Amino acid sequence: GLFGNKGWKPAWRDPAPKAEYDAIIIGGGGHGLSTAYYLAKNHGLTNIAVLEKGYLGSGNIGRNTTIVRANYFLQGNSEFYSHSMKLWEGLEIDLNYNVMHSQRGLINLFHSDGQRDAFVRRGNSMINQGDDAILLDREGVREMLPYLDFEQTRFPIYGGLYHPRGGTARHDAVAWGYARAADKRGVDLIQNCEVTGVDIENGRVTGVQTTRGAIKARKVGIVVAGRSSQVAAMAGMRLPIESHILQAFVTEGLKPVIDHVVSFGMGHFYISQSDKGGLVFGGDLDFYASYASRGNLPMVEHVMEAGMTLMPMIGRAKVLRSWGGIMDMSPDGSPIIDKTHVDGLFIDCGWNYGGFKAVPASGWCMAHLMATGESHPVAARFKLNRFATGHILDEEGTGSQHN
Ligand code: FAD
Repeated sequence: GLFGNKGWKPAWRDPAPKAEYDAIIIGGGGHGLSTAYYLAKNHGLTNIAVLEKGYLGSGNIGRNTTIVRANYFLQGNSEFYSHSMKLWEGLEIDLNYNVMHSQRGLINLFHSDGQRDAFVRRGNSMINQGDDAILLDREGVREMLPYLDFEQTRFPIYGGLYHPRGGTARHDAVAWGYARAADKRGVDLIQNCEVTGVDIENGRVTGVQTTRGAIKARKVGIVVAGRSSQVAAMAGMRLPIESHILQAFVTEGLKPVIDHVVSFGMGHFYISQSDKGGLVFGGDLDFYASYASRGNLPMVEHVMEAGMTLMPMIGRAKVLRSWGGIMDMSPDGSPIIDKTHVDGLFIDCGWNYGGFKAVPASGWCMAHLMATGESHPVAARFKLNRFATGHILDEEGTGSQHN
């Protein structure tokens, strides 16, 4: 597509690291870039840097299956994801960047009376939060998704919870959009710069050690998703986070066939169709802790089986490629955006398999915390000490559709 186009200017600068910044964000994924952007935009902090060990967007922000939704149940989560959805809805104008946000609607299927009850509760909670939810019966689902197998008896389709404002966005465009907008406001985006140590004096952070030298800062945010435990360990912390692989798959490009996001929680399978025509789908985690960003064959088989059960027509499509990303799994399925025991050191992690949709609100709330020292009201429950006090936000089930 770029054939013949010459002399294109880079979308952001490539600055050398300065000796000192007012604030440093470790990690140039979706959350790190959005944190930097909102620090600059909402709080006027522009002498800041994002330090990324690879290239911007090389982590999960460019590896996810792009689903955006606000269908969480528990207070603490629901207002946060609702806030995120509102930011998504204005994001392209705000960033002046086409992130291909497409509110094509998300349908969570249910397969038993008990599951229907749970989805009715969830739908009511979503509506109370100000988001949208519509309960579909079996015929309602058949009308919208006629290609599903309604005859299968192992997991008969009873209906679905339809979330019209849910949908997808182009994942790496989100990283690029935030990167360009942050750069424009003066943020230094420094690639190929791995943080190897966190400097602490008398209980206060003073800067970081990197593969491009030491950099001073009185505020440092750790926003490294799957690598959270490793980077936090540099500051002497042991996080309640396990890193696991989540795989995803895409088929060859096909003519439009799936015009929603469909989630089949019972079979651990979900699917949508990209604007390029590929069927994008995935399933469950590979069930062992790992820092390898690629998965293993048993889960490939499991995902393909689930896909065939739900929509046998998928057996006609050819899988083009598969990949994996490192998920920062928290014990209760909810994230952490909090201060740490070190003054000036903050952490944003625990996004499990659902952190893409959170990118705008996570950056918004992390920036608020780093600038003001106070938790943003919609992220007030994302405290690190909840695992010690027992005030957990157990919403792992929401992620059981793995998106
Ligand atoms: P990343 O992009 O991984 O950013 C972290 C960055 O930190 C990386 O670029 C890394 O290189 C950098 N880093 C690490 N260590 C260091 C260091 N020492 N120094 C400097 N930099 C460092 N979420 C959804 O909401 N919807 C979905 O449909 C969805 N599907 C998914 C499907 C798959 C297959 C995967 C893997 C994830 C999915 N997710 C989904 C989850 C989502 O992608 C993540 O929760 C989210 O992207 C994590 O935040 P991030 O973008 O900041 O992470």
